[in-house]
Amino acid sequence: MAGIFEKISGAGKGVSDMSKAASDTNNLKKKIAYEQERIQEVMQEIGRQYYANPKGDYSALCADIDDRKRRINSMKADLHSLKGLRVCGTCGTKFDEKYTFEFCGKCGTRLTIE
Ligand SMILES: [Zn+2]
Repeated sequence: MAGIFEKISGAGKGVSDMSKAASDTNNLKKKIAYEQERIQEVMQEIGRQYYANPKGDYSALCADIDDRKRRINSMKADLHSLKGLRVCGTCGTKFDEKYTFEFCGKCGTRLTIE
């Protein structure tokens, strides 16, 4: 009796873990996209300010970009741990979670995480 109950609750846990991982993955992807957009905006802002004043101090804006890049990197690391499947956008090869290289082993393209 206890065995059956464990099996059922175990299966339920598996499903909710999977859907949680999927929504975590989506949230992370959205947050990464947001940070990347913000970086573009800050880059443009630096460009505008530099144009107006080439001798200005842009260290705060640069530090903001560095912060966001660090956040993106840690979120990308989280994505890896959630679902480590790497996919080559060029040749379509899929690598399992044991494959930890940044680049496709077949064609050398930088891999994205699916
Ligand atoms: Zn490839």
